[in-house]
Amino acid sequence: MKTTATQLALFVVVIVGLSACRKDPVQAAGPRTAPAATEHAPAQPEPGSHDDWCDEHQVPESLCTRCNPALAAAFKATNDWCVEHGLPESQCRICNPKLKIERPPKKDGAK
Ligand SMILES: [Zn+2]
Ligand SMILES: [Zn+2]
Repeated sequence: MKTTATQLALFVVVIVGLSACRKDPVQAAGPRTAPAATEHAPAQPEPGSHDDWCDEHQVPESLCTRCNPALAAAFKATNDWCVEHGLPESQCRICNPKLKIERPPKKDGAK
């Protein structure tokens, strides 16, 4: 039967195509080692942009010393540091109850 032959041919092509695409490096690499580093790298928001915001601490994420303690040194170096509360003075709402840090507006057109 012609139909059967065609179907068989198609079937073979599909199988060959599938196996050709099967270049899973997973087996060679073994168990998933550490894909986290590469996954996080490109998602860095632009400092000072709307996306650069720490919801938890209500400060720009790029300046959040509580999420990224390594930033503290830079604030200390510029004397912008509240030793009592372990925060940049410019972010210390305990010392400056009137302090308002506002999230930057979205750049690209509002929806
Ligand atoms: Zn934070
Ligand atoms: Zn303080």
